Amino acid sequence: MPDLDATCSLDLGCPSDDFAAFCDAHPDRQVVVYANTSAAVKARADWMVTSSCALAIVKHLKDQGQKVLWAPDRHLGAYIQRETGADMLLWNGDCIVHNEFKGVELELLKARHPNAMVLVHPESPEAVVKLADVVGSTSQMLKAVIDGKAQEYIVATDNLIMHRMRQLAPGKTLFEAPTAGNSATCKSCAHCPWMAMNGLQGVIACLENGQGEITVNPAVGKDAVRCIDRMLAYVAANPAALAPKVQGMVRSIGAA
Ligand code: SF4
Repeated sequence: MPDLDATCSLDLGCPSDDFAAFCDAHPDRQVVVYANTSAAVKARADWMVTSSCALAIVKHLKDQGQKVLWAPDRHLGAYIQRETGADMLLWNGDCIVHNEFKGVELELLKARHPNAMVLVHPESPEAVVKLADVVGSTSQMLKAVIDGKAQEYIVATDNLIMHRMRQLAPGKTLFEAPTAGNSATCKSCAHCPWMAMNGLQGVIACLENGQGEITVNPAVGKDAVRCIDRMLAYVAANPAALAPKVQGMVRSIGAA
């Protein structure tokens, strides 16, 4: 890793011992965890998912009559629950970046830019997801900007993605989704301090000096890789599982 201190609130909020106790209390459920978890948490899981394939895999489990124990992001879990109708028990974690987006403020921004397409990552609160034209992973949001017919986009995810969007879709106008109201005394910045720690100097140190090596207990790693392999096999067999969720195919501006 470019910086071994670069962690994630989803990982910090899901200690493996507590999670194991939660799983032990619900042995009748398939355990589905997001990628942003430790190897020890993955070792307790039946499935790992990313935001690109989470919806499809939980729907697959529901169609098989399975109940789901979901961790760690409660917003993403609740979104999948609403979309699939699956029986899901949610761990109470969140992402410090996406949890800050505000539905009321987003409505005000939409009113100022009525032709803008709203792109939202599903780790955001329900009030924000409800206002989206496209709900999807960062790669799906990127594709929506590149392919979309709209001229303006409001983007609810880490704002570092804006640079890549401007590179790949020059000429499109982008707005950051709001994270606080006008009366707030402190505005968060839609920017993850941990992701930002992974800079080029760290990458060079990894490549040239072998710094940042991660060691995982082999027994934990052997168990953890099972849920990852299961996801990879499912996605390879079901490539359509990676399609973004487009809400109601968008007012008058066309869609990606
Ligand atoms: S933005 Fe930061 S805190 Fe949020 S999921 Fe990504 S790494 Fe974790």
